[in-house]
Order: sequence, then C-alpha cells, then structure tokens
Amino acid sequence: MSRVVVLGGGESGVGAAVLAKVKGFDVFLSDSGKIEERYADDLRKWDIPFEEGHHTEELILNADEIIKSPGIPSTVPMVKKLEAQGTSIISEIEFAGRYDTAKKICITGSNGKTTTTSLIYYLLQNAGLNVGLGGNIGKSYAMQVATEKYDYYVLEISSFQLDNCYSFHPDIAIITNITPDHLDRYDFKFENYIKSKFRITQNLRPEDCFIFDSDDEITIAHLSKIVMSAKMLPFTQKGEVDQGAFVKDEQIVVRYEEEECNVYLKELALGGKHNIYNSMAAALAAKASGIDNKVIRESLATFQPIENRLEPVLSVKDVLYINDSKATNVDAAWYALECQKSPVVWIAGGKDKGNDYEVLKPLVREKVKAIVCLGVDNHKFYEAFEDIVGKDRMVETRSAEDAVKEASKFAEPGDVVLLSPCCASFDLFKNMEERGEKFKEAVRRL
Ligand code: ADP
Repeated sequence: MSRVVVLGGGESGVGAAVLAKVKGFDVFLSDSGKIEERYADDLRKWDIPFEEGHHTEELILNADEIIKSPGIPSTVPMVKKLEAQGTSIISEIEFAGRYDTAKKICITGSNGKTTTTSLIYYLLQNAGLNVGLGGNIGKSYAMQVATEKYDYYVLEISSFQLDNCYSFHPDIAIITNITPDHLDRYDFKFENYIKSKFRITQNLRPEDCFIFDSDDEITIAHLSKIVMSAKMLPFTQKGEVDQGAFVKDEQIVVRYEEEECNVYLKELALGGKHNIYNSMAAALAAKASGIDNKVIRESLATFQPIENRLEPVLSVKDVLYINDSKATNVDAAWYALECQKSPVVWIAGGKDKGNDYEVLKPLVREKVKAIVCLGVDNHKFYEAFEDIVGKDRMVETRSAEDAVKEASKFAEPGDVVLLSPCCASFDLFKNMEERGEKFKEAVRRL
C-alpha cells in the first residue's frame, strides 16, 4: 500500500488525510504545532494516525508522496529534506483534483478572490446546479471530494495552494488581478509571485476558459510572455471587447460566444469600482457555464456583502461605520477609499508588509478628514499622511474599542468611519476576522 504523509493538521491537511484514507492509502499526518481539537477529533473518527508538536523523521521520510498544507513554507527543514531525497510534494488541491470529475471554476488573484468566488457560487446555486464551494474558503475541497458528490465546484485558490499544483486542471480559471503581496514567501521577487498565480492556467485546454482583468498591467505583461490555448475572456472598464466583459452606457456587457448579457451598474448589489470587476468576472464565469441572463442579473442584484469586506455595520448619530478588515494590503484599501462618497474617518494600520503608501495619497487628500491608527508601530502612516491630514487629525490607538471611540470624535453627521487597515492584523489581533469582530462590537457599544 502506498504511503501518503500529510504535513499540517488544519482544514486543508485533515481534508486531504481523510480523502487519502477513503482512497485506501496508508496515511499519516504530522503537525509541528498544536492541532485544534475539532481536527484531532476528525482524525480519530476516521482512524488516521497523527502526531502534533513535532515531526518524526522516520515516519515522514518514508512517504511515497507528501501533501503539504499551504501554510508551511518550502523553506522549513523537513520540506527541504524531502525535496533533497526527491519525494513528490503536492498540495491538497492537486491531490483532490485527481479524484474529482466535476467541472471546476477556480479563482485566484491578489484581491477579490473571496468576493468573486462567493458570487459565482451564488450564481450557480441560483441556477439550480449541484455545486460545492471550497479551496481557500470554507470547507476543505479534499474533504468534500471524499464525502460529497457535486457536478460543479467553485474553488478559491491561493498562491500557496497553487505552488504545489502540477496536473490540476480547472475548466474555467480566473485571475482577478495581481498586485504585490506575500512577497516574503517568494524570495521578495514579484516575478515569482506572478508565476505562482499563473500556475492556475498551466493545464488549460482549448475548450477551457481563462478570465482575467485586462486593465491590470501586471497580468497583461505576463500574458505576453506565455502561450495559452484556452478561450481568452478579458474583463475591462476601459473600452470594449469582442469576447469578455466591459462597461458601456452604465451597464456591464458580457459577451460569450454568440450570447450577450447586460446588467445595469446601479442594480449591482456590491458597490465600488473593484466590485464592478468582480461582478464582471463572475458574470463571465456564469455565462461560460451556460447560465441564463435572467439568473445572472437577479443574482448580481441580490448578493449580500460578505463579512469584513466593505461590510456596513451600523449608523450611529448619522455616521456609517464600515468594516473592511479584510483589506490587508494597499490595493484593497485604495478601492475601499475610492468608492466612498462621504468624508471618511479612516481607521488603518497593523502589521506592515513592506507597504508603499504613495498611491493612496491622492485619495487621502480628497476624501480623508482624519486618520485613526490601529497598530503597534504606526510611524509609516505618520510619515506618509501627516502633511496631508494634519498631525492634530491623526491619533494612535492599540485596540478596536479605542479606535472606534477616537474615530467617533472626529466624525460628524453624514461622514463614514471606515476600517480598511491595508495591513495584516497579527500585531494586535489573532487574525483579520477577530479585528473585524472587535470593531463591530465596539461600534455596537457606541
Ligand atoms: P481575497 O480573498 O483575494 O483577499 P476579498 O474578496 O476577500 O479578496 O477582498 C479582500 C479585500 O480587497 C477587501 O477589502 C475588498 O474590499 C478588496 N477587494 C475586493 N475585490 C477587489 C478587487 N477586484 N480589486 C481590489 N480590491 C478588491
């Protein structure tokens, strides 16, 4: 019996281990940290041996194949050893793809993955298709392949998951956009990160579709260097395309083969220029899956905003509080500020990932009346924006509660208080979800 060892005991690793077990492999799972109780319970339930707190070399180096969880960098010593001895190392997505015959719509990109993935899932569900949702979102893809039967999957796939994909084959691949992010995992080389995103296209066939943002110079520059045989479906807010999606006369126009679908911008449930891109990408994927124009229109009009993504929380004293905790990079915060129509009290800061705030300056000049920094080290914010908003309109805080209190002092009726941090959350919070939750609690207590 062939031996599969899974490294990492989170959602992805446990799902992969269960699938391997179902497929009759001799499975072992190893996590150098602590495994959450609910995952340990799953492993026991499926009778899968595992260890936590360390890696036992003898139990790992004898694997025929390794499934590595996306959170584990390839620089850790155990992975290096496995690579040196030539063991095949794959991701959960690659593994599950081997056993899945469903049609797969796969979404990657720097920003907009979760929004676009959720929109497409909603569209396919509304069309009455038997569809699963997974990857970097919700339930593990491998776990679903092991225990469910779907005709379609909509999968959000991060660059870390793509890094160990080799034969995985989407029917429709989407790259929402590419801006610098996670460069610490790519030797600080942007090119490596771009190549990783493009792995989603590596097995596309002529009958498959590639949906991409043709306003994104990085994507276009890379496309000019590679050969792809899939149907090319660009989406753009600059000009028209023959096949793909564009904006004309205040409508999204989607063209796929002989068909055309139009949706008024004012009917879109999600606001902001970035969500026009996301809506176009989703509508294209739906059209290419044969979904009716009526379902597409209704779905784009009724989709509910997702938590932590420009999520309206509450109006207090005629000030609207918006939770965009998921904006962990500069580009996401740019779009959040761009779509604000009222003066903004901006709550920002956190763990800086080598950010360059230059691109935000015009928007801050135009829209932001005060900045509440929410981070351990805020000096880069002061350097970048002090001269624009004024030192007396900037304040430092270390908790969501204080940040909301300070923001409420600056805000006047008709203003917006926007949490869109453009930084990771790990300096003060467990993760971006906790940051968003604490923000919402503080707003509700105002
Ligand atoms: P991801 O899953 O790629 O992180 P999300 O859909 O969760 O993307 O959105 C992350 C952040 O980026 C949010 O703050 C959201 O408002 C912003 N955003 C969403 N779509 C886009 C886009 N197409 N371009 C730029 N920013 C976006």
